[in-house]
Amino acid sequence: QEDDFKKVISHAKEYGYVFQSSEIYDGLSAVYDYAQNGAELKKNIREYWWKAMVQLNDNIVGLDSAIFMHPTVWKASGHVDAFNDPLIDNKDSKKRYRADVLVEDYTAKIEAKIDKEVAKAEKRFGDAFDKKQFLETNPRVVGYQEQINAILKRLGKSLENEDLVDVKNLIEELEIACPLSGSRNWTDVKQFNLMFGTKLGASADSAMDLYLRPETAQGIFVNFLNVQKSGRMKIPFGIAQVGKAFRNEIVARQFIFRQREFEQMEMQFFIRPGSQKEWYETWKEKRMAWHLSLGMGPENYRFHDHEKLAHYADAAADIEFKFPFGFKELEGIHSRTDFDLGSHEKYSGKKLQYFDPELNESYVPYVVETSIGLDRMFLAVFSNSLVEEELDNNTTRTVLKLPAVLAPVKAAVLPLVKKDGLPELAQEIIDDLKWDFNVVYDEKDAVGRRYRRQDANGTPFCITVDHQSLEDKTVTIRHRDTMEQQRVAISEVKAIIHKEVDM
Ligand code: ATP
Repeated sequence: QEDDFKKVISHAKEYGYVFQSSEIYDGLSAVYDYAQNGAELKKNIREYWWKAMVQLNDNIVGLDSAIFMHPTVWKASGHVDAFNDPLIDNKDSKKRYRADVLVEDYTAKIEAKIDKEVAKAEKRFGDAFDKKQFLETNPRVVGYQEQINAILKRLGKSLENEDLVDVKNLIEELEIACPLSGSRNWTDVKQFNLMFGTKLGASADSAMDLYLRPETAQGIFVNFLNVQKSGRMKIPFGIAQVGKAFRNEIVARQFIFRQREFEQMEMQFFIRPGSQKEWYETWKEKRMAWHLSLGMGPENYRFHDHEKLAHYADAAADIEFKFPFGFKELEGIHSRTDFDLGSHEKYSGKKLQYFDPELNESYVPYVVETSIGLDRMFLAVFSNSLVEEELDNNTTRTVLKLPAVLAPVKAAVLPLVKKDGLPELAQEIIDDLKWDFNVVYDEKDAVGRRYRRQDANGTPFCITVDHQSLEDKTVTIRHRDTMEQQRVAISEVKAIIHKEVDM
């Protein structure tokens, strides 16, 4: 698993998808840049989402609100008081951990220990090995599970209740049961606010303390009535927005999965109070259908319903995706009640109510939200697409099987040789295609090597121009995933690509 993930990271760098920010200065932790291919893939994911949410729903409209917002917004939203992570430092290693993530580390460590026992036993018993029975009866494995699970369970409860003294004690107990850091010297657990602060204004006394927004949603809430009135929107309706969000994450690892600066694609759906259960279920279904439409395999997704709810929610679920490091949250669907609008009414003193002409009454609408990280979606798509394939002739190839609709480059045009007018014909084909798709030209190396390069780059089509092309105006189209080749008229190429890559 770890190796697979390393391959994903190095492939992303090698093929111009993702670079560490400020790399020549040794990088900046948990901040990344998207390069020539990455910027295209990201744009395509953004558009795929926007089209599904805004363009295809006549009751959802877009918004592009500013990153800076009035500081009281974050009081009203609860972020100033409650957007915290529990933090613990190890005094010996001087390492800082998020207490809840430390739990994941211990869980992984225990699983690795158990896997080791299983592997040992498998070797010893060979074909006669019964894994299920082994897991249930082997005293060492059962011991690990019982002891550790008991601690983890208590720890989960203490984290939920924010009983920070208890959290510290239980981490110490865990360390004894299953040494991970090799050190038992922990500080007390502290709450740490994740918002980045900054200042607006030049002179010291008139400067105003601001935050970089930790989510895009609040820009939607404060504009709710402006959009509703100017767009003459009728409930139920939604406002969608894609934009940067910033969080001072303590555990910054797992590549672009958890960054300090990232993009969110959020949609707030405004509804009648009382209809939230129905809309929550509807949006759970719709969002899962969106994911499945990309064809990345239903086995890679699952719902995780929250038992413990955030201060603003009356129901919440995650869509989890199978990343190289296991199932993790990709998107959240939250029934936020009237918490946000109600709270902004209180703090701003302005009415944020909707007059419902059918009911002939005014109310603060309820909200169901869908919130997905663009960068996380990028990682889901990229890691799921990267495969090593065994070929018939005992060789392997690396293919990035990106959904064609999302691929950064849709086609590469390859003249078989660099002479006899083939490059010129290839260029003519490019000049025709480039109005519709992102296409590239490649004439270096043998054509087989060029195919491999495009496979690894995720390009769904290679169009090869040869001598016959000059005579009969046909080319070969090679399909990335099947490696099948078709001879087609140059005039048909555009339609063939459109058919595969259009949304
Ligand atoms: P997590 O528990 O992983 O920190 P969260 O529950 O805080 O995530 P939300 O506040 O619900 O996340 O944000 C909605 C979405 O934004 C998440 O599902 C995720 O895709 C994305 N997201 C949140 N934090 C980050 C981050 N630091 N880097 C990249 N994407 C993020």
